[in-house]
Amino acid sequence: MRSTARFFAALLTLSFLLIVQSGAAQALPSRVKVELFSSRKVATGTSEAMGLLGPVQILEPCVLGLGEGRYSIELAGDGLCISRPTLYSRSKPLISGAPRIVLAPVKSTIQIPDPGDYRKPRSYRGTVTITRGAGNKLLIINDVDTRSYITSCVGSESLPSFRPEALKAQAVLSTTLLERSYRGKPIPDSTEEQSYLGATSERADVKAAVDSVFGQELFYAGRPIDVFFCSTCGGTTARPDIFGGQVQEGRYPYLKEITCNYCKGSPFYKDLVKEIGAAEFLKKAGCVLPRVEVERLGRPSQVSVTKAGHKSSMDGYQFWLLLGKSFGWGFVPSTRYSIELAPDVIKFVSRGCGHGVGLCQWGADGQARAGRGYKEILSFYFPGTTLKTPSR
Ligand SMILES: [Zn+2]
Repeated sequence: MRSTARFFAALLTLSFLLIVQSGAAQALPSRVKVELFSSRKVATGTSEAMGLLGPVQILEPCVLGLGEGRYSIELAGDGLCISRPTLYSRSKPLISGAPRIVLAPVKSTIQIPDPGDYRKPRSYRGTVTITRGAGNKLLIINDVDTRSYITSCVGSESLPSFRPEALKAQAVLSTTLLERSYRGKPIPDSTEEQSYLGATSERADVKAAVDSVFGQELFYAGRPIDVFFCSTCGGTTARPDIFGGQVQEGRYPYLKEITCNYCKGSPFYKDLVKEIGAAEFLKKAGCVLPRVEVERLGRPSQVSVTKAGHKSSMDGYQFWLLLGKSFGWGFVPSTRYSIELAPDVIKFVSRGCGHGVGLCQWGADGQARAGRGYKEILSFYFPGTTLKTPSR
């Protein structure tokens, strides 16, 4: 059972924007390179070390098996070294001066502790290669088969309570997204692409769902679609115009404002009210007097703010991102929000979670619970698209 905090964090993970740039249809790759822990921050001026849990097989710079226990890989001089730290001292490095280190599992996976929480090791299939990245950062690349990658992404992006048909819909989107974006270079493991937590997020129901639709992708006019999904639309999905700027006419004929009555089971399908003092708002967000100037179906498209006495305008999505960065992503979880101004207090009321474009994940689960299959779910949120299994 997930803790409330983890549950909430998982929901917010679902809410981020996923945009894939246009590109010609490619064959789905058989393997994928993923940069692990890609969103972590390393303080400037420090040299990064990563943990590793044995048993693990080293393939490069020499073949060496490491037994059970904790190991450390870090930059030392021009190369990398592996050592086995003890409680009070650091042992002589087992390997030093290596330009790169390649790891393979002894059992089925390689265990790497999360740099943000060493008590939570993640496990990865395939191989892991470590080299020096930019600055003093380690570059950790996982080479994994595509099926395992998709299975992990669906498990990472879905809640354990989601029904099989909703998981299948997510698997088709995950595959479509991969084909649209993958060009052989490592992709991030964060929601910048799609969340990938390795074999840690594999579950039996997710694996069965992925296996049953593996290779299927969503096409429009002969090409895989641009993939968008969010946690909870809150009643109506949004058009991609929500992201601001001009959307080329006819670019997204399959993304419309769709009435969704299926996400009522989401904990975000209710008005969330947050109040904040104007002084604190100014301190953290750098402006005052935010007002919605233009909105569409409850989602602001234009917001005015006042900075240093000057009123300026910004699009509603950028303002929403500012709120997330300034006050945390749970403060106003949805792009569907309103602002009320009272003397010295600003009140935000939001409903839903995420940007609202494309597939509503709680809605997909609601439809699955109502007996709809993944094909119906996908054509509901992406009208006019067709499901295809590309030739290999
Ligand atoms: Zn919905």
